[in-house]
Amino acid sequence: MKKAFVVGHPIKHSRSPLIHGYWLKQHGLEGSYERIDVPPAEFADFLKSFASKGYAGGNVTIPHKEAAFAGVEKRTARAERLKAVNTLWVEDGVLWGDNTDVLGFMAHLDQSLGQGWEQTVETALVIGAGGAARAIVAGLQDRPIARILIANRTFEKAEELVRDLRMEGGAVLQALPWEDLARAVAEAGLIVNTTSLGMAGQPPLDIDLSTAPKNAVVADIVYVPLKTPILAKAEALGLRTVDGLGMLLHQAVPGFAHWFGVMPQVTPDLRKLIVTDIEAAK
Ligand code: NAP
Repeated sequence: MKKAFVVGHPIKHSRSPLIHGYWLKQHGLEGSYERIDVPPAEFADFLKSFASKGYAGGNVTIPHKEAAFAGVEKRTARAERLKAVNTLWVEDGVLWGDNTDVLGFMAHLDQSLGQGWEQTVETALVIGAGGAARAIVAGLQDRPIARILIANRTFEKAEELVRDLRMEGGAVLQALPWEDLARAVAEAGLIVNTTSLGMAGQPPLDIDLSTAPKNAVVADIVYVPLKTPILAKAEALGLRTVDGLGMLLHQAVPGFAHWFGVMPQVTPDLRKLIVTDIEAAK
Protein backbone atom coordinates (compact mmCIF):
# COMPACT_ATOMS: atom_id res chain seq x y z
CA MET A 1 0.00 0.00 0.00
CA LYS A 2 1.37 3.43 -0.96
CA LYS A 3 1.45 6.05 1.75
CA ALA A 4 1.73 9.85 1.63
CA PHE A 5 1.41 12.68 4.15
CA VAL A 6 1.02 16.38 4.77
CA VAL A 7 3.53 17.64 7.30
CA GLY A 8 3.22 20.94 9.18
CA HIS A 9 2.99 22.47 12.63
CA PRO A 10 0.14 22.78 13.51
CA ILE A 11 -1.54 20.50 10.97
CA LYS A 12 -4.93 19.47 12.31
CA HIS A 13 -6.87 21.97 10.15
CA SER A 14 -5.35 20.83 6.83
CA ARG A 15 -7.95 19.84 4.23
CA SER A 16 -5.38 18.00 2.08
CA PRO A 17 -6.36 14.55 3.51
CA LEU A 18 -9.92 15.15 2.28
CA ILE A 19 -8.68 15.96 -1.24
CA HIS A 20 -6.30 13.01 -1.56
CA GLY A 21 -8.74 10.68 0.20
CA TYR A 22 -11.35 11.60 -2.40
CA TRP A 23 -8.98 10.79 -5.28
CA LEU A 24 -7.80 7.51 -3.71
CA LYS A 25 -11.41 6.37 -3.45
CA GLN A 26 -12.37 7.69 -6.89
CA HIS A 27 -9.55 5.73 -8.54
CA GLY A 28 -10.01 2.62 -6.39
CA LEU A 29 -6.44 2.84 -5.15
CA GLU A 30 -5.18 1.24 -2.00
CA GLY A 31 -3.29 3.99 -0.27
CA SER A 32 -3.29 6.44 2.58
CA TYR A 33 -2.68 10.15 3.08
CA GLU A 34 -2.26 11.35 6.64
CA ARG A 35 -1.53 14.47 8.65
CA ILE A 36 1.79 14.47 10.49
CA ASP A 37 2.59 17.16 13.04
CA VAL A 38 6.33 17.80 13.20
CA PRO A 39 7.80 20.73 15.17
CA PRO A 40 10.56 22.73 13.41
CA ALA A 41 13.37 21.25 15.50
CA GLU A 42 12.49 17.73 14.28
CA PHE A 43 11.81 18.52 10.62
CA ALA A 44 15.31 17.79 9.25
CA ASP A 45 15.19 14.29 10.81
CA PHE A 46 11.69 13.75 9.44
CA LEU A 47 12.90 14.55 5.91
CA LYS A 48 15.68 11.99 6.19
CA SER A 49 13.53 9.24 7.64
CA PHE A 50 10.08 9.31 6.00
CA ALA A 51 11.07 7.06 3.07
CA SER A 52 12.34 4.35 5.43
CA LYS A 53 8.93 4.42 7.15
CA GLY A 54 7.26 3.50 3.85
CA TYR A 55 6.06 6.92 2.66
CA ALA A 56 6.30 7.72 -1.04
CA GLY A 57 6.31 11.44 -0.25
CA GLY A 58 3.98 14.19 0.84
CA ASN A 59 3.00 17.83 1.08
CA VAL A 60 4.77 20.38 3.23
CA THR A 61 3.01 23.32 4.80
CA ILE A 62 3.62 26.13 7.27
CA PRO A 63 6.23 26.52 8.78
CA HIS A 64 8.40 23.99 6.90
CA LYS A 65 8.42 25.09 3.23
CA GLU A 66 11.82 26.80 3.41
CA ALA A 67 13.37 24.00 5.49
CA ALA A 68 12.07 21.49 2.95
CA PHE A 69 13.71 23.52 0.19
CA ALA A 70 17.02 23.38 2.06
CA GLY A 71 16.71 19.68 2.87
CA VAL A 72 15.86 18.06 -0.48
CA GLU A 73 18.49 16.66 -2.84
CA LYS A 74 16.97 17.90 -6.10
CA ARG A 75 14.45 20.64 -6.88
CA THR A 76 12.36 21.63 -9.86
CA ALA A 77 13.20 24.95 -11.52
CA ARG A 78 10.04 26.44 -9.97
CA ALA A 79 11.06 25.47 -6.45
CA GLU A 80 14.56 26.76 -7.14
CA ARG A 81 13.15 30.19 -8.08
CA LEU A 82 10.83 30.42 -5.08
CA LYS A 83 13.21 28.92 -2.51
CA ALA A 84 10.26 27.04 -1.01
CA VAL A 85 9.07 23.43 -1.43
CA ASN A 86 5.52 22.16 -0.80
CA THR A 87 5.67 18.74 -2.48
CA LEU A 88 8.16 15.93 -1.80
CA TRP A 89 8.71 12.59 -3.53
CA VAL A 90 11.46 10.03 -3.93
CA GLU A 91 12.59 9.10 -7.44
CA ASP A 92 15.33 6.51 -8.01
CA GLY A 93 16.37 6.95 -4.38
CA VAL A 94 16.68 10.75 -4.71
CA LEU A 95 14.55 13.12 -2.60
CA TRP A 96 12.89 15.70 -4.87
CA GLY A 97 11.05 18.93 -4.04
CA ASP A 98 8.64 21.02 -6.12
CA ASN A 99 6.52 24.10 -5.49
CA THR A 100 3.08 23.37 -6.91
CA ASP A 101 1.39 26.55 -5.60
CA VAL A 102 2.43 28.24 -8.87
CA LEU A 103 0.71 25.63 -10.97
CA GLY A 104 -2.27 25.51 -8.61
CA PHE A 105 -3.03 29.19 -8.89
CA MET A 106 -2.53 29.38 -12.67
CA ALA A 107 -4.52 26.19 -13.39
CA HIS A 108 -7.43 27.56 -11.40
CA LEU A 109 -7.33 30.90 -13.23
CA ASP A 110 -7.26 29.09 -16.58
CA GLN A 111 -10.12 26.80 -15.58
CA SER A 112 -12.23 29.69 -14.22
CA LEU A 113 -11.59 32.29 -16.93
CA GLY A 114 -10.80 30.12 -19.97
CA GLN A 115 -7.47 29.84 -21.81
CA GLY A 116 -6.15 33.14 -23.18
CA TRP A 117 -7.69 35.31 -20.41
CA GLU A 118 -4.34 37.06 -19.96
CA GLN A 119 -4.47 38.61 -23.43
CA THR A 120 -6.60 41.45 -22.06
CA VAL A 121 -4.43 41.98 -18.99
CA GLU A 122 -1.61 44.45 -19.40
CA THR A 123 -1.07 45.14 -15.69
CA ALA A 124 -1.61 42.76 -12.79
CA LEU A 125 -1.73 43.92 -9.18
CA VAL A 126 -0.58 41.45 -6.53
CA ILE A 127 -1.46 42.52 -2.99
CA GLY A 128 0.93 41.04 -0.43
CA ALA A 129 4.54 39.89 -0.64
CA GLY A 130 4.65 36.70 1.45
CA GLY A 131 5.37 33.14 0.34
CA ALA A 132 2.12 32.76 -1.61
CA ALA A 133 2.64 36.11 -3.38
CA ARG A 134 5.97 34.83 -4.67
CA ALA A 135 4.29 31.76 -6.20
CA ILE A 136 1.64 33.93 -7.82
CA VAL A 137 4.09 36.44 -9.26
CA ALA A 138 6.18 33.55 -10.65
CA GLY A 139 3.07 32.07 -12.30
CA LEU A 140 2.07 35.41 -13.83
CA GLN A 141 5.61 35.89 -15.16
CA ASP A 142 5.05 32.88 -17.44
CA ARG A 143 2.21 34.72 -19.19
CA PRO A 144 2.34 37.64 -21.63
CA ILE A 145 1.53 40.27 -18.97
CA ALA A 146 3.54 43.48 -19.39
CA ARG A 147 3.63 44.72 -15.80
CA ILE A 148 3.15 43.19 -12.36
CA LEU A 149 2.70 45.59 -9.44
CA ILE A 150 3.33 44.26 -5.92
CA ALA A 151 1.83 46.26 -3.06
CA ASN A 152 2.64 45.26 0.48
CA ARG A 153 2.12 46.71 3.96
CA THR A 154 5.86 46.22 4.58
CA PHE A 155 7.25 47.91 1.49
CA GLU A 156 10.75 46.41 1.92
CA LYS A 157 9.31 42.90 1.48
CA ALA A 158 7.74 43.92 -1.83
CA GLU A 159 11.11 45.32 -2.91
CA GLU A 160 12.83 42.10 -1.87
CA LEU A 161 10.33 40.02 -3.88
CA VAL A 162 10.99 42.17 -6.95
CA ARG A 163 14.76 41.79 -6.53
CA ASP A 164 14.49 38.00 -6.16
CA LEU A 165 12.05 37.31 -9.00
CA ARG A 166 12.93 39.94 -11.63
CA MET A 167 13.78 38.31 -14.99
CA GLU A 168 15.65 39.77 -17.93
CA GLY A 169 13.18 40.43 -20.77
CA GLY A 170 10.16 39.42 -18.66
CA ALA A 171 7.28 41.43 -17.19
CA VAL A 172 8.24 44.65 -15.44
CA LEU A 173 7.97 44.02 -11.69
CA GLN A 174 7.34 47.06 -9.53
CA ALA A 175 7.08 47.30 -5.74
CA LEU A 176 4.43 49.71 -4.46
CA PRO A 177 3.94 51.28 -1.05
CA TRP A 178 0.63 50.32 0.63
CA GLU A 179 -0.63 53.92 0.21
CA ASP A 180 -0.53 53.50 -3.59
CA LEU A 181 -3.00 50.62 -3.64
CA ALA A 182 -5.98 52.76 -4.65
CA ARG A 183 -4.10 54.25 -7.61
CA ALA A 184 -2.90 50.83 -8.74
CA VAL A 185 -6.43 49.36 -8.73
CA ALA A 186 -7.43 51.75 -11.53
CA GLU A 187 -4.65 50.38 -13.76
CA ALA A 188 -5.04 46.66 -13.10
CA GLY A 189 -6.75 44.10 -15.33
CA LEU A 190 -6.10 41.43 -12.68
CA ILE A 191 -6.10 42.08 -8.94
CA VAL A 192 -5.02 39.29 -6.59
CA ASN A 193 -5.22 39.32 -2.81
CA THR A 194 -2.44 37.15 -1.37
CA THR A 195 -2.52 38.61 2.14
CA SER A 196 -4.32 36.83 4.96
CA LEU A 197 -6.76 39.76 5.19
CA GLY A 198 -10.36 38.66 4.64
CA MET A 199 -9.72 35.23 6.15
CA ALA A 200 -12.20 34.18 8.85
CA GLY A 201 -11.10 35.89 12.06
CA GLN A 202 -9.05 38.55 10.23
CA PRO A 203 -10.11 42.08 9.24
CA PRO A 204 -11.15 42.49 5.60
CA LEU A 205 -8.83 43.88 2.95
CA ASP A 206 -10.08 47.45 2.82
CA ILE A 207 -9.70 48.68 -0.76
CA ASP A 208 -11.90 50.64 -3.09
CA LEU A 209 -12.54 48.59 -6.23
CA SER A 210 -14.87 51.12 -7.84
CA THR A 211 -12.05 52.53 -9.99
CA ALA A 212 -11.03 49.11 -11.36
CA PRO A 213 -11.44 48.69 -15.13
CA LYS A 214 -14.87 47.21 -15.95
CA ASN A 215 -13.34 44.02 -17.40
CA ALA A 216 -10.96 43.48 -14.45
CA VAL A 217 -10.73 40.14 -12.67
CA VAL A 218 -10.48 40.05 -8.88
CA ALA A 219 -8.95 36.90 -7.38
CA ASP A 220 -8.41 35.93 -3.76
CA ILE A 221 -6.30 33.05 -2.51
CA VAL A 222 -7.99 33.05 0.90
CA TYR A 223 -10.69 30.34 0.80
CA VAL A 224 -12.24 30.48 4.27
CA PRO A 225 -14.73 32.00 3.78
CA LEU A 226 -15.15 31.04 0.15
CA LYS A 227 -16.61 34.43 -0.70
CA THR A 228 -14.25 36.84 1.01
CA PRO A 229 -15.30 40.49 1.54
CA ILE A 230 -13.20 41.65 -1.42
CA LEU A 231 -14.79 39.05 -3.72
CA ALA A 232 -18.26 40.11 -2.54
CA LYS A 233 -17.35 43.74 -3.25
CA ALA A 234 -16.06 42.87 -6.72
CA GLU A 235 -19.14 40.82 -7.51
CA ALA A 236 -21.41 43.71 -6.46
CA LEU A 237 -19.53 45.92 -8.94
CA GLY A 238 -20.06 43.40 -11.74
CA LEU A 239 -16.37 42.41 -11.92
CA ARG A 240 -15.32 38.83 -12.64
CA THR A 241 -14.09 36.95 -9.55
CA VAL A 242 -11.97 33.87 -8.85
CA ASP A 243 -11.97 32.31 -5.38
CA GLY A 244 -9.08 30.74 -3.48
CA LEU A 245 -10.29 27.15 -3.21
CA GLY A 246 -9.31 26.13 -6.73
CA MET A 247 -5.66 26.92 -6.00
CA LEU A 248 -5.72 24.51 -3.06
CA LEU A 249 -7.31 21.78 -5.19
CA HIS A 250 -5.06 22.20 -8.23
CA GLN A 251 -1.80 22.41 -6.24
CA ALA A 252 -2.56 18.90 -4.96
CA VAL A 253 -2.61 17.29 -8.43
CA PRO A 254 1.15 16.82 -9.13
CA GLY A 255 1.83 15.30 -5.69
CA PHE A 256 -0.91 12.70 -6.06
CA ALA A 257 0.47 11.75 -9.49
CA HIS A 258 3.99 11.28 -8.03
CA TRP A 259 2.92 9.17 -5.05
CA PHE A 260 0.06 7.12 -6.43
CA GLY A 261 0.85 7.01 -10.17
CA VAL A 262 -2.46 8.46 -11.42
CA MET A 263 -3.06 12.01 -12.67
CA PRO A 264 -6.23 13.10 -10.82
CA GLN A 265 -8.77 15.71 -11.94
CA VAL A 266 -10.21 18.69 -10.10
CA THR A 267 -13.93 18.05 -10.53
CA PRO A 268 -17.07 19.86 -9.36
CA ASP A 269 -17.72 16.92 -6.98
CA LEU A 270 -14.34 17.32 -5.31
CA ARG A 271 -14.94 21.04 -4.96
CA LYS A 272 -18.37 20.37 -3.45
CA LEU A 273 -16.84 18.03 -0.87
CA ILE A 274 -14.42 20.70 0.35
CA VAL A 275 -17.03 23.47 0.24
CA THR A 276 -19.28 21.33 2.44
CA ASP A 277 -16.42 20.84 4.89
CA ILE A 278 -15.71 24.60 4.99
CA GLU A 279 -19.40 25.34 5.56
CA ALA A 280 -19.63 22.71 8.31
CA ALA A 281 -16.66 24.25 10.16
CA LYS A 282 -18.40 27.65 10.48
P1 NAP B 1 2.90 34.96 4.66
O1 NAP B 1 4.13 34.56 3.96
O2 NAP B 1 2.87 35.02 6.14
O3 NAP B 1 2.47 36.43 4.09
C1 NAP B 1 1.38 37.13 4.63
C2 NAP B 1 1.09 38.39 3.82
O4 NAP B 1 -0.08 39.02 4.36
C3 NAP B 1 2.21 39.43 3.86
O5 NAP B 1 2.26 40.12 2.65
C4 NAP B 1 1.71 40.36 5.00
O6 NAP B 1 2.23 41.67 4.90
C5 NAP B 1 0.24 40.38 4.71
N1 NAP B 1 -0.54 40.80 5.87
C6 NAP B 1 -0.81 40.06 6.99
N2 NAP B 1 -1.55 40.79 7.85
C7 NAP B 1 -1.76 42.01 7.27
C8 NAP B 1 -2.43 43.21 7.64
N3 NAP B 1 -3.07 43.30 8.84
N4 NAP B 1 -2.45 44.25 6.78
C9 NAP B 1 -1.82 44.18 5.59
N5 NAP B 1 -1.14 43.08 5.16
C10 NAP B 1 -1.10 42.02 6.00
O7 NAP B 1 1.67 34.02 4.27
P2 NAP B 1 1.44 33.23 2.88
O8 NAP B 1 1.97 31.86 3.01
O9 NAP B 1 1.91 34.09 1.77
O10 NAP B 1 -0.17 33.10 2.88
C11 NAP B 1 -0.99 34.24 2.73
C12 NAP B 1 -2.46 33.81 2.67
O11 NAP B 1 -2.68 32.98 1.53
C13 NAP B 1 -2.93 32.98 3.87
O12 NAP B 1 -4.23 33.40 4.22
C14 NAP B 1 -2.95 31.56 3.35
O13 NAP B 1 -3.92 30.77 4.02
C15 NAP B 1 -3.34 31.79 1.89
N6 NAP B 1 -2.87 30.71 1.00
C16 NAP B 1 -3.80 30.07 0.23
C17 NAP B 1 -3.38 29.07 -0.64
C18 NAP B 1 -4.40 28.35 -1.47
O14 NAP B 1 -4.11 27.23 -1.91
N7 NAP B 1 -5.54 28.94 -1.74
C19 NAP B 1 -2.03 28.72 -0.72
C20 NAP B 1 -1.10 29.41 0.07
C21 NAP B 1 -1.55 30.41 0.93
P3 NAP B 1 3.59 42.06 5.69
O15 NAP B 1 4.71 41.60 4.80
O16 NAP B 1 3.52 43.53 5.82
O17 NAP B 1 3.57 41.34 7.01
